[in-house]
Amino acid sequence: VVVLKDVKKSFGSLQVLRGVSFSVDKGDVVALIGASGSGKSTALRCIDRLETIDSGTIDVCGYSVSDPNLDLRRLRLDVGIVFQSYNLFPHLTVEENITLAPRSVKRMQKAEASEIAREVLAQVGLSDKADNYPEQLSGGQQQRAAIARSLAMQPKVMLFDEVTSALDPKLTGEVLKVIETLAASGMTMIMVTHEMAFARRVADQVVYMHQGRVHEAGAASILTHPTTAELSEFISNDL
Ligand code: ATP
Ligand code: MG
Repeated sequence: VVVLKDVKKSFGSLQVLRGVSFSVDKGDVVALIGASGSGKSTALRCIDRLETIDSGTIDVCGYSVSDPNLDLRRLRLDVGIVFQSYNLFPHLTVEENITLAPRSVKRMQKAEASEIAREVLAQVGLSDKADNYPEQLSGGQQQRAAIARSLAMQPKVMLFDEVTSALDPKLTGEVLKVIETLAASGMTMIMVTHEMAFARRVADQVVYMHQGRVHEAGAASILTHPTTAELSEFISNDL
């Protein structure tokens, strides 16, 4: 569903992606890991064309993301992305936050959008918060609401960029549980995460980035038995 081939990306003279290749099959859960500055967020943003690439190719759900004529609206119907900061609209209730895009982008009727909002809120365990405003929610609840908002668009692929790194351990657990359930439901996802235990448990594939390259990749077992010195050191720093 997602294929990156030799993707290169620089910001000015700084080469951030130096030839990144990996591919994600339907239903796969990929954990993208690596040190700060190794290019994880940039790679994720390139997949959703929030950044344009300098060379190489990215295919997502049949779209050629590097094609300048790509219909971004259609790409983003298929790709949901959730960041560390929740970016909920503060002046809208949780339900209004969730129904906004289905109604405006998909031209869904109010009743249908509300029905979907109910479903996705149940999925993230927030059925009782539909009428609350974001500021009335805990950080973990806000992050789950942000995930629900993405799910309401019924994406084919979900991208998560360190969605728990702003949360304390208890709230982190709540959010990871939601992601784990989503993974079990067969959602294709790429998650940038520092939660190694979580990656070990949930990921079908681990992609370790180091200095703008995929330095080691494979099944989650590479986290227990790394073959490169760099990944080995990265994991031991994390303990
Ligand atoms: P972290 O774990 O800290 O989030 P990361 O692996 O996600 O790190 P990126 O955010 O992809 O790293 O950044 C990789 C490098 O690219 C960093 O050196 C960063 O400063 C640089 N960079 C990222 N975005 C931009 C930008 N818009 N303009 C200039 N430099 C950028
Ligand atoms: Mg990042």
